[in-house]
Amino acid sequence: MPRNFRSLAHALIRRIGLLALGCALLFSALQGIWQYRSVQQQLQDSIQQLASSNIPLLSVALWDIEPEAARRQLHAIASRPGVAFVRVNVVTGQMFEAGDSTSLYNNPVQRFVIPVPGEQGRPLGELLVVQREAYIYQQVASSLAGMLLGYLLLTVLICGMVAYVLRRDLERPMREIAAFAGQLTPQSLTDPLRLQRGWREAHDEIDLVAGGFVTLQNALTEHIDSLDQQVEERTQQLENALGEIRALLTHDALTGCYNRAFLAERLPQEMTRAQRSGQPLTLVFCDIDHFKRINDEYGHLIGDEVLCAAAGRLRSQLRTDVDWVVRFGGEEFVIVLPDIGPPDAQLVAERLREAIATSLPLQDGRLLQITASLGVAVWQPGEGMEPWLKRADALLYRAKLAGRNRVEA
Ligand code: GH3
Ligand code: MG
Ligand code: MG
Repeated sequence: MPRNFRSLAHALIRRIGLLALGCALLFSALQGIWQYRSVQQQLQDSIQQLASSNIPLLSVALWDIEPEAARRQLHAIASRPGVAFVRVNVVTGQMFEAGDSTSLYNNPVQRFVIPVPGEQGRPLGELLVVQREAYIYQQVASSLAGMLLGYLLLTVLICGMVAYVLRRDLERPMREIAAFAGQLTPQSLTDPLRLQRGWREAHDEIDLVAGGFVTLQNALTEHIDSLDQQVEERTQQLENALGEIRALLTHDALTGCYNRAFLAERLPQEMTRAQRSGQPLTLVFCDIDHFKRINDEYGHLIGDEVLCAAAGRLRSQLRTDVDWVVRFGGEEFVIVLPDIGPPDAQLVAERLREAIATSLPLQDGRLLQITASLGVAVWQPGEGMEPWLKRADALLYRAKLAGRNRVEA
């Protein structure tokens, strides 16, 4: 996990919490203003009520000159929680007070006329009632405190619920998806993404993301499969091409026989094997007689056709996968016969001569009569490849000298 990682749920809850707190403070401020006005109005009303119920009694007490009664009444008024100070100024110059006289200078004052008993129009004195502002603030503060506490509790509750839902429905599945994506490799590509989520009525964005993963995995798997198939096809093509190149390296292109490079590589192996097994090993040198004449008479293309046919006839007389034929040059062939020595070698050579000498039908329908001379040399243990080939060639030369279309051993 990166160092500056902060979970989405954590950030969301923090924001919701701060927003809820801001809202609570704003509502509290509005509520406070409204509350202040309403408490102030209530206080003013209650002071007015208090005054109107006390003025008749005060009027009587002052008229009857009963200062004690008037003072008692003033104390009773001043003891009310919203009243800070009361004073009565009588027209005669007398003055009665109760409460905190200093509050007179910084609190609102209400004045009421005290009439002469029974004569509403004739004033006997004036009643001053000083409101206690602190009382209003106390009332507002206590009601706001309760409200704020309620708001805070509600905010904490909502944040807790949101946190739970976010963790369960967003954070946990997202982490599961992240862990899954983090350990996805070509080998585990077919493993399905399994989220631990409870039953839900409908699909949501998490399901869309999970579905996207399934689509991606399927597409990748298909892509890899097609790549595998392509690699397999290309490998096959390369192997085929390689096989063809190998065949070209070891075979003669015209007749399909092995070439001299193959002879040079393979013949020593045959000699080693014969040495080890003690079995004979024979080499036949075969040269088509008067081949130059065929070329001269029929042309080079027919000459090629004759060479191919002669090679096919030689091969047809031999054991498959044991004997092998090399085109040594021009119209000369070398035939290697493992495990064959005299007198069988001579018999095989004779068979080869006869096969070549059989009249040859050309592709254009004409019949051609060709012959070949052969020299047969059985390998002598310890003999090198070159002397052995020379010996076979010398025998071939002897066959030519002796009149051609014959075998010399
Ligand atoms: P000999 O009986 O003494 O062997 O006589 P020859 O005519 O067969 O021998 P020579 O060596 O004089 O001639 C061989 C000819 O084979 C010469 C050459 O033009 C021909 N030749 C060699 N390679 C090919 C080939 O690939 N295709 C064709 N058509 N002719 C070839
Ligand atoms: Mg020749
Ligand atoms: Mg020849």
